[in-house]
Formats: sequence, C-alpha cells, structure tokens
Amino acid sequence: MINQLTRRDFLRASALVSAPLLSSGLIARRASAQEPQKRWFKGNLHMHNQWSDGEPLPEWAIDWYKSRGYNFVCPSDHNCFQSDELHFVSFKSKPTVTPEIKKAFQGETSLWKPMQCEEVPANKLTPEVVKQAQDRFGEDSVQTRTVGDKTFVRMKTFDELVDQFVEPDKFLMIPGYEQTGGCVDGRAVHMNFIGVRKTFAYIKKIEEPAEELRQTFAKGAELYSEAPYLFTANHPMWKFYDYGPAALMANPQIRLFELINNGIHRDYKRRMDLWQPEQFWDVVNAWRATNDQPLLLGMGSDDRHNYDGESKGWTMVRSATLEQNALFDAILSGDMYPSNGLDFEEISFDGKTLNVKIDVKEEGAYKIVFVGTKKGYDPTCKIVEVAASETNPERKVESYSDEIGIVLETVDGTEGSYTLKPDDLYVRAKIYKADDDPSLGWKTKPAAWTQPWR
Ligand SMILES: [Zn+2]
Ligand SMILES: [Zn+2]
Repeated sequence: MINQLTRRDFLRASALVSAPLLSSGLIARRASAQEPQKRWFKGNLHMHNQWSDGEPLPEWAIDWYKSRGYNFVCPSDHNCFQSDELHFVSFKSKPTVTPEIKKAFQGETSLWKPMQCEEVPANKLTPEVVKQAQDRFGEDSVQTRTVGDKTFVRMKTFDELVDQFVEPDKFLMIPGYEQTGGCVDGRAVHMNFIGVRKTFAYIKKIEEPAEELRQTFAKGAELYSEAPYLFTANHPMWKFYDYGPAALMANPQIRLFELINNGIHRDYKRRMDLWQPEQFWDVVNAWRATNDQPLLLGMGSDDRHNYDGESKGWTMVRSATLEQNALFDAILSGDMYPSNGLDFEEISFDGKTLNVKIDVKEEGAYKIVFVGTKKGYDPTCKIVEVAASETNPERKVESYSDEIGIVLETVDGTEGSYTLKPDDLYVRAKIYKADDDPSLGWKTKPAAWTQPWR
C-alpha cells in the first residue's frame, strides 16, 4: 500500500521539523526549572474573509478573533495569499477588467474587489459589509473607488493587517492559504498550507483523493522547503464523505487533519451509521501505529465564512513563546489539542502513562474517556454504497470494524490517567460534560481531545 514515493516524501517533510519530533513516540514534557514556562495559546488556522468567499472585510475578520481572546490566526483564503500585487479577479469574483479600469488603478497595490453586482453576484461584498468595517475602524479606514458602473473596494494586505493587529506575546498572524478544489468526479479535497506566502495552482484532473493529497503535499515540499510550514488535510466529511481514512493511510507523510471543522455542521445531512471524524482518526492511527508510522494529529478549526454566532472550533497550543516556528514545533510534536468548548489544564505523557486534568471553568460533572485500539484488531474495510438522495450525492463510503477506537477506560471527574497495556496500539483522551449524550460521537459539545500517544 505505501509506495516508494510516499516514503521519500515523508523523509523530505521530516527534514522540515526539528530532530526530537523524528522519534516515533510523542512525548509531552512538563516544564523543568531550566526550561522556559510554557503556556497554552488559542488559535484558528482556517478562516476566510473577502480575499476569497468570506463575508467580512479582512480587518473585520481578524479583529473578530483577536477581540475574542484568540492568540493566533491564519487568514487561509481559498487559493490566494493577501499579497501587495494589484489585481481585480479573485475567488468566485471575476469582473471584466477594461483598459479604463487598469488606467484608473495605475500605481495601486492589492486586490480591488468590485462590490456585489450582476456581473459578480457571488462575492458577498455589499454596502453593509463595507459599513460594518467603517463603523468599527472609522469612516476613512476602507478605500473605495468608482470606475464606470462599478465601485471597487481595496482589501488590506497581509502585511498591513500585521501592522494593524499583531502584538508581541498577545496576538500573532501566520500567513497561509487553503488549496481548494477536488477530484474529477467532484469529491472535494482541501488542504491548508500554513506559514507560506506563495500559492500554486490546484493540481487538477486527479481521480482519487489519496493521489490529490500525495501530489499536493509533494509539490508543497518542493516549493516551500526553505522554511518550516504546516500542511493540513481539511474536513474529510465535507461535503459528504468526500475522502475516507484510506486516503490518509496511503499518505503517512501527512501529520495533521481537521478533527473539528465548523463547516461540517452544514450542508449535507450526516449519517450516524457511517464513520464520524473520531472514528476516521482512529482507523488511520490504528494502521499507522501497527506500521510504525508517525500518528495523525487532530486540529480544531472554525473555517469561518459568515461571522454570526460564536466560535465553534479551535486549537490550543502549548509553547514558551507566541512565535510561528515555536507554535509549529509544538503542533507537530503533539503538544496541542482541538476543542469545541472545554479546556485541559494539563496533558502529559511519559512514554507509558497519559495524564489529563480538565481546566474547569464551569461547575458541573465531567467525564474523561480514554480511547484506543488493541493490537491484532480487524483491519478489514468494507465499502458501503450510499445512493444519491436530496441531501447527498452517491458515495462509496469506507466502513471499518468496531474494534477500532474502543473505550479503554472511563473516569468520572476532572482528573485521570491511563497506562498503556502491552496490547494497546495507542491511547487518546476525550473530555466532555457528564450530562452530554456520548452516542452523539463527534457532535458532543462542549468537548476537547488530546492527541493519540504511544
Ligand atoms: Zn475547505
Ligand atoms: Zn475553508
């Protein structure tokens, strides 16, 4: 199953991260006297604004997270970076650029996006969106210019947003983008490149998601080798089981995926009889642990397009400093957790025992469940053929044994530990409120998840 190329890609990717991460066991250490004190930082590495198809102007979107206590964000717009270069055409907004328009913007920089009109109906850039930003940042904060029958709005560039919002030790912005597209049959395969400022065109005409992931990862490794960056496999369940665990079993070089994505709550109706993101995760990790490959780590993100309601998914990262490379090291070493509402005060793994402590912010009863898979589990994959309906397209969905991702131990309370037994492949912990219905699986809310350890 694992071919030569993926092995080579893995080695190339490994060279991008620091040496301790290459060990097969992931070890979170408690800070000793010699080490600087580590803290938890809250972040979201997947969001959208008017640079692509998000609703608000870029400054309004960044401010939304900063004012809600986030410490870092990556404005990961679809297939674009918020660069200085002058342009008018963007994701889902392709106005005719006349010589008159070109002349009127000579010497200007950045994306000048036309207001929503008949020619560009899908870009959501309305007078209300402009006013929303002007109300917040001042009448002169948004530049507009009218040429002929079109009014253009200037988007702030990444560097301008950095100047406006970044504060040392408090708020960090990380460059990046979402590689957006899909296979020839329409199954979506989206991936984030985080920590990069240059995009490349989506690799088209690919038949299988596993191949899309493999080629995109390899192209990224080729282009972005000069500095550390992250690659995430996004929302496998969107729009409807578009790629399954086998795609990540075939790509062990991919270390990060979205366990929690706000987007998966929308669109097609979910099927509780098919795999859920947590089971997807366990299927991949049972395979990887058996084959002595680095485990797949889960991230939480908001993938926010519309900014109504509160934030629904994020990642907490433990680091001594709020610096891009320090956060990347912590993320790739598993010193982070995805959350949709709860927090850990402590997560530690000493090579054998996983200890967790909930950071209780609201009185009540809590549960800790330790989940894992035993050696010798049944790895059989069956294919469930789902017919097209009003709520979903036709799909062939992978189905795996119930022996994968079993409950190893449940603790009533806010503190617990689990020591790996000789027949355990790995262990991870999930925390939730005791009055929640665990049969909801991934929908349990609020909850938080440790990474898997072995
Ligand atoms: Zn996406
Ligand atoms: Zn997205």
